[in-house]
Amino acid sequence: MEYRRLGRSGLQLSELSFGSWITFGNQIEDGTSGRLLDMAYDAGINFFDNAETYADGASEEVMGRLLAQRDWPRDTWCVSSKVFFGAGGKLPTQRGLHRKHVVEACHDALKRLRVDYLDLYFCHRPDKQTPMEETVWTMHQLIQQGKVLYWGTSEWSAAEIMDAHRIAERHNLIGPVMEQPQYNMFVRRKVEVEYQDVYRTVGLGTTIWSPLASGLLTGKYNRGASADVRLKRDELSWLADIVLNEKNLAKVERLGDLAGDLGTTLPKLALAWCLKNPDVSTVLLGASKPEQLEENLGAPAIVPLLTEDVMARIEEILDNAPAHPEY
Ligand code: NDP
Repeated sequence: MEYRRLGRSGLQLSELSFGSWITFGNQIEDGTSGRLLDMAYDAGINFFDNAETYADGASEEVMGRLLAQRDWPRDTWCVSSKVFFGAGGKLPTQRGLHRKHVVEACHDALKRLRVDYLDLYFCHRPDKQTPMEETVWTMHQLIQQGKVLYWGTSEWSAAEIMDAHRIAERHNLIGPVMEQPQYNMFVRRKVEVEYQDVYRTVGLGTTIWSPLASGLLTGKYNRGASADVRLKRDELSWLADIVLNEKNLAKVERLGDLAGDLGTTLPKLALAWCLKNPDVSTVLLGASKPEQLEENLGAPAIVPLLTEDVMARIEEILDNAPAHPEY
């Protein structure tokens, strides 16, 4: 496993990391979660991603219990939480990025994950109702208190991230270090275009999510996937509506053929394509079965197959390179 610096920070995360959205405390049994966590750690993964909202807190509870059962030294792994959506409660005090919720959510995540500090703490979405100053000060204070080591954002605009940095600089506070955007062959604009200046000016790191577009980029939806797959779950029909369409499936078909030509599989090719981008600090994997993780862990080994020619063939199939602004 290779390790990459998280933006301009000194922290080095494994280039593949592992998250628990939909799976832990929900889709899969705790025994399977434990097996996946072991496989990830044994492969050199040092970052486990979580959020208050995943299974309304149950995902953090399961991960916390599993981590506590292992004898892995605390200085060999990192764990995150994210705040914004709440852990089930919908009252205004129970969600958002105001001081009350950010602090209470941090305390709850520490208890559920059974840790003394969160290595990474993300603002899961921007909060238009809370002054940016309040959130930046609160994150800074949590770091000062030793409850959080690095804070960041998820799905914020470049302008919002820069706004947070301006405030941090003005008051000598610690600013956001990393962003967690969606990034995969079908969703590219933020990572490839919007954040370009932010990488260079403040040294933004990225922990990218849904690298396989929730499983679309495995090719299994082209083959009439079995009933227990993510995009057939009732609560995710909204996501299936966005992702599963003729145009995407036709591209996936051709990408699958290309992977075959290269002697590899589509999941590995799609993950390697994400790893190839130097602005990606770590690619967050998700898996509901050990054999999926096993396969996905093979992605770094095929990055060298992505020559200029292969990248051009992928680009021709995708036909969705985001336009860069003209200056
Ligand atoms: P992916 O796009 O890689 O989707 C993972 C899912 O695809 C698996 O759970 C499995 O679902 C299927 N899959 C994975 N590998 C294979 C394989 N080799 N063969 C067949 N099927 C496979 O990543 P996620 O969407 O899970 O995102 C990764 C992590 O990113 C999350 O766990 C979470 O930590 C984070 N995240 C953050 C968000 C944010 O807003 N900040 C939003 C979403 C995720 P199944 O078997 O059920 O089909």
